[in-house]
Amino acid sequence: MASSDYERRIAARFATFDQDGNGYIDREDFSAAAKAVLAEFGLAARCDKGQALYAGAEAFWQGMAGIADRDGDQRISRDEFVGGAVKRLRDNPDRFAEIARPFLHAVLAAADGDGDGAATAEETVRVLRAFRVPEDIARLAVGALDADQDGRIAEPDIVDSFARYFTVPE
Ligand code: CA
Ligand code: CA
Repeated sequence: MASSDYERRIAARFATFDQDGNGYIDREDFSAAAKAVLAEFGLAARCDKGQALYAGAEAFWQGMAGIADRDGDQRISRDEFVGGAVKRLRDNPDRFAEIARPFLHAVLAAADGDGDGAATAEETVRVLRAFRVPEDIARLAVGALDADQDGRIAEPDIVDSFARYFTVPE
């Protein structure tokens, strides 16, 4: 049972990255995620926050491809994700945090309406909604992110939780 639960969790992580659901993780999925955040917060692609989001998404894609795209076809198959990405990210969660950080930094800047350096719980739910995370799971995740319940979710919380979520302990 433990291994099937593990496989189910891996499948959920893959689905989160595969934003368009075509069975591969590729550059389009990352730019789609950036675009969805812009749309959710009513920002233009050409504004500074929009540019930062697209640049962060591209860096995240390049980092993931470097780790997982073993056959170099510019897409990460489910096998490459399970066999390469998951194991290597689990062995090195700091590396994952590094490749994800510019994107997460830009997402936080886009979501942080009052510019105080942190997102509110509601803003974080909107980010997760943009990434197609179901509302109930998003609310649970935000509750866990805001461990001290002060209603503010800052970059270190987001990077750490994101790395923990995607590095899936066995
Ligand atoms: Ca895809
Ligand atoms: Ca590949």
